[in-house]
Formats: sequence, structure tokens, C-alpha cells
Amino acid sequence: MAEVQRMEGDGGSVRVDLGAFDALRGAIRGPRAIVRCADATDVIRAVEFARDHGLLLAVRGGGHNIAGNAVCDGGLMIDLSLMRSIQVDPNQRTARVEPGVTLGEFDRQVQAFGLATPLGINSTTGVAGLTLGGGFGWLSRRYGLTIDNLTAADVATADGHLMRASASEHPDLFWAIRGGGGNFGVVTSFEFRLHRVGPEVLSGLIVHAAAGARELLETYRRFVSEAPAELMCMVVLRKAPPLPFLPAAVHGAEVLVFAVCYAGNVEDGRRALEPLRRQGEPIARVVGPQPFTAWQAAFDPLLTPGARNYWKSHYFAELSDAAIEVILAYGSRLPTPECEIFLVHLGGAISRVPAGATAYPHRDAQFVLNVHARWREPEQDIACMQWARSFFAAAAPYATGGVYVNFMPEDETDRVSGAYGGNLDRLAALKAKYDPDNLFRMNQNVSPAIARGGVA
Ligand SMILES: Cc1cc2nc3c(=O)[nH]c(=O)nc-3n(C[C@H](O)[C@H](O)[C@H](O)COP(=O)(O)OP(=O)(O)OC[C@H]3O[C@@H](n4cnc5c(N)ncnc54)[C@H](O)[C@@H]3O)c2cc1C
Repeated sequence: MAEVQRMEGDGGSVRVDLGAFDALRGAIRGPRAIVRCADATDVIRAVEFARDHGLLLAVRGGGHNIAGNAVCDGGLMIDLSLMRSIQVDPNQRTARVEPGVTLGEFDRQVQAFGLATPLGINSTTGVAGLTLGGGFGWLSRRYGLTIDNLTAADVATADGHLMRASASEHPDLFWAIRGGGGNFGVVTSFEFRLHRVGPEVLSGLIVHAAAGARELLETYRRFVSEAPAELMCMVVLRKAPPLPFLPAAVHGAEVLVFAVCYAGNVEDGRRALEPLRRQGEPIARVVGPQPFTAWQAAFDPLLTPGARNYWKSHYFAELSDAAIEVILAYGSRLPTPECEIFLVHLGGAISRVPAGATAYPHRDAQFVLNVHARWREPEQDIACMQWARSFFAAAAPYATGGVYVNFMPEDETDRVSGAYGGNLDRLAALKAKYDPDNLFRMNQNVSPAIARGGVA
């Protein structure tokens, strides 16, 4: 007789054959077990269980990773999404944050005290994965990367210990987790330095027809080279979404958008933006003071779940004429209405930190180019991925060769050395110290160095 399980159904209790569960399990790809951790002790137990049983182990923070490494097929997933507490000390200007917290939750809590730290531009992203890779967003030119504001972390390592990592406690581990991704253990708590921000910041969009894109990109290059560190300006090339401030006639047409945020006094920001505001005749100019938390979520409506995605990314030391030509060529061939080209100006406080001071090595990069292929139908898979790949290949001669670890898709295992650059050897030596059996390998993986004779 078949074993059955009683479950709640539409009309009350129903009986489900256990064989049906086995069939479902066989049909679905995903972890064999998910441990929903409530605290650091749960995390340690789950790490030990995976290690002792030789299981493939994945770690989920916010679940936003481009390579999808938070999920593993057939192994064990440590799900941190229940660990969401945020403790703010407004006097010390610090926050202690658990690893299931999203950027939007963090911003809301700390903005209640008029405080913030640099995070990314999409509020549903997880603080954990973003921080471990480096983390940049609207405040980064002024206050640095997210890791530049990380003062300590608690890390559950492969041997089942909870280690405090800071400038004075296990400083080598602290160095490694600031850019080395999830290679060194499971972070159960992050501590950040906060800054006075807002509550309103001058921010918004200037939308131009793509017809003038060459001149606009040349203006952008000039403008950002003279911009103060408070000002962050990104360019987006895409087909205009049906946003209420855009005339209906423009919806679906190719546009070039300047997205700006001034992390400082609003009037100073207006003055700093003036050269960009004067440029050409935009379709729309919606720049003004608005709550920092609102601006931090401004891109969310364009990034709703459910789409098929494939991303490629480059760093540039400069925006050369040749790079602009490639951007223009591929910007005029966007395969779907949701595909985007993102160009982010970096520098400022990010570049003032030496490349070896943290594991994140790309301090010299002045721009990051993101090719976001986004579409809905499986039939569009090939065209969209080909567009992204050939764009990426055409831009490669003008790029640094490095890549942001958090912008790598799952098929870029050959770019790991580009992700860690000159810091790879030290990371490999520390991997051998803290995770010699490579338990934490569902990531942009650093192989443990073999017999390198000590750790730097
Ligand atoms: C729409 C979108 C917008 C983005 N915008 C930005 C941006 O503006 N700036 C920016 O810097 N990045 C940005 N990113 C990239 C983002 O930083 C990465 O996708 C990041 O990995 C997301 O972290 P997560 O915790 O949500 O992801 P997850 O998928 O949960 O985790 C990613 C990986 O990090 C590791 N990890 C997660 N939590 C832990 C933990 N507690 N301990 C140890 N390892 C852990 C694991 O290896 C995991 O596979 C964006 C991504 C997307 C999809």
C-alpha cells in the first residue's frame, strides 16, 4: 500500500501519495536540503553538517546573484533570509546587520536617523553578497565601496568556528572577505560605519533621444572628469519604458538617460549638475530633491522578477573614442525592450584606497560597463545572449581585463583571475588557511593554494 501524507487542500484535508513527492523531487532541480538559519549557531551546525557529509554547499544571502550561486543542485543550501535584524547606533554612527537583510531594509532603518552607507542601486539586492564582492552605488564616489565602510564581521568558517574579523581580529580574514566573495566562510553579521546623508538628496534622470548619443557620451566623459566626489552619474542606453513623465510617443524609442545623485548639499549639487543640464534638449528632466530611500529604489520597477537575464561586464580605465563607438553600435541593436547598457562612473573615494588594501583590486577603474540582456521568451535566449557576448567581445580591447566579481555570470569561470587581479595569490593562500578543502566553492571560486609556504 502506498504511503500517504495528509496536507491541507482547497476543501480541507487531502491525502498525497509520498511517491508523488519523490516524482516532484526528481523533476525539480535544486538543493536536496535547505537549512533556514535563525542565528549564527544554526549556521555553524549547517556548515559542520555539510562538511561532515561531504555535501555541495551553497549560501543564500539576498538571493540576487547574477551567477545564481546561492542555489546548488542536489546539495545543501544555507538560507540566511530569516536573519534580518538591523541594530543602529546613531551616536557611534554604526550599524550591525544580519546577512538576510536587503539594501532597502538597511536604508530604511538607518535613514530613520539620517544616516546611510554606500550600497547598490536596486533595493532588493542582499547586503551580504553585495558587500563580500565590494559593493558600489550612489554614495561610493564620496564614501567609497561598501567594504570601505565595513568595520567588522562575524564569520562561520569551514572548521565550525565563529571568527570575528576586523582590523585587529583575524585581520587577514578581514582583508579577504572585503572583495573575496563567499570563499572564506559564512558571514553571520556585518558591522558598518554610517554617514550623514539626506534625508533628501538631489537626484533624478535626464532623458535624451538616442540620436544625439555620440555627443552626449563625449559630454559625459568631460563632465565626469571634472565632477566632485559627491556627484555620481550613470548613463543608461535602452528603449524608453512607459514611465509617466515620458510622452507616449517616446515609449519604446531608444533613449540615453543620465541618472544622477549628489551626496551633499542640494544647492551645491544644482551647481555641479549645471553643465549636464545645459546639454542639448532633453525629452525629460526630472531632477530634484527627493528622499534618499526613494532614489535608492528608483530602478526597482525596471528590474522586476520573472525576466530571463544574461549579464556581461567590463571595467575601463578611460572612456576612449573607440569604446564609445562600440557602445553606440550595440546601443542601436538592443534585442528587446528590457535590454540595457549601463555605464557607471567610479573613481573618487573608491580610487583613494590602494589596490592591495582589501581583496577588491579594481581601484584604478574609472568606469564599469554593464551589458544587461533581459528578455521574457525562451525563443529569445540565443539572440539576447549573442548580443551580450558579441558586445562584450567588441568592447574588450578597450577594457582593463578585470571584472567585478559581483557582475559575473555563471559561465565566466575563466575570468576568476580577472576578478581578483593582483590579489589572487594572497587570496589563494588565505583560502588554504581558512578553507583548505574548498567547502565554500559555490562562488567565483578561489582555489586553495598548495604548499605556498605561509600566508602573506
Ligand atoms: C538587478 C541587480 C542590480 C545590482 N546592482 C548592483 C549595484 O548597484 N552595486 C553592486 O555592487 N552590485 C550590484 N549588483 C550585484 C550584486 O552585488 C550581486 O548580485 C550580489 O551577489 C548580490 O548579493 P545577494 O546577497 O543578494 O546574493 P546571493 O545570491 O544570496 O549571494 C551571492 C553569493 O554571495 C555569497 N554569500 C551571500 N551571502 C553570504 C554570507 N552571508 N556569507 C558568505 N557568503 C555569502 C555566496 O557565494 C552567494 O552565492 C546587482 C545585481 C542585480 C541582479
